[in-house]
Amino acid sequence: MVHSNCHTHTVFCDGKNTPEEMVRAAIDLGFTCLGFSFHGPMTPDAVWTIRPERMPEYAAEIRRLQRLYADRIEILHGIELDRDCCGVDPANYDFVIAAVHQLTKRDAHFDVDDTADVLRECCRTIYGGDWLALAADYYDRFASFVCRVQPTIAAHFDLIEKFNEDGALFDSNDPAYQALATAAADRILDACPDVLFEVNTGAMYRCGKKQPYPTLFLLRHLQKRGARVIVTADAHTTDALCFAFDKALEAIRSAGFDTVYELRRTEGKAIAVATAIRDSEFGIRN
Ligand SMILES: [Zn+2]
Ligand SMILES: [Zn+2]
Repeated sequence: MVHSNCHTHTVFCDGKNTPEEMVRAAIDLGFTCLGFSFHGPMTPDAVWTIRPERMPEYAAEIRRLQRLYADRIEILHGIELDRDCCGVDPANYDFVIAAVHQLTKRDAHFDVDDTADVLRECCRTIYGGDWLALAADYYDRFASFVCRVQPTIAAHFDLIEKFNEDGALFDSNDPAYQALATAAADRILDACPDVLFEVNTGAMYRCGKKQPYPTLFLLRHLQKRGARVIVTADAHTTDALCFAFDKALEAIRSAGFDTVYELRRTEGKAIAVATAIRDSEFGIRN
């Protein structure tokens, strides 16, 4: 069973609940561990990142909650980094999630997970309408960033699929597209074989996506390469904390995995713990 979520946002970045509300909801769900992963600062500033001047207050709040709820739940203090680290030292955090949310060219910055129209505009403006060129750039940036940061977790691998339900934007069955994604996976695994790939249900909650990231062909490729996977909710509200974890575990199992990882806090440190996936253990304890 999955009794944790280590991808959690709060009002300190773009989440809707306070850290303490998230902790209390996680305890009510029977979680053993909750990992916070605020969006670290970016240059230029993005509306969904933490204000740099609030970082000390945020860190103090996480420490307070770790002490206050020590006998009820393990709390991890992580960070989700994007594109550059902006002076943040990843070593100061229990775990690091590496992500690419933006594609950029000179002064043009597009959040690929904002809306379908923003992604279309991004494709038109930067790539002349060529979706394969967009995918090539996105996967190259993602693999490069993950290899550079060597994070605990590689975030929502194929985030550009967010609005591509039923091929609405591009053909993700195109072998040329799939080769770009699997090549990125190979680069990452060659450079950091122990990284955890998250099977992320965030867009299932937030915009009704039918499947978690990554898409099944990519998940199958990761399984063949011996990659490690972790289920995360990318939760921005208390009611998303374990959303569609049963679907995520189904996808993981159908890709051929027999093991899923969770982050746990042991002697003050975050470690990845393996759990066997068994048919009888889908879902989480309620
Ligand atoms: Zn993210
Ligand atoms: Zn996130």
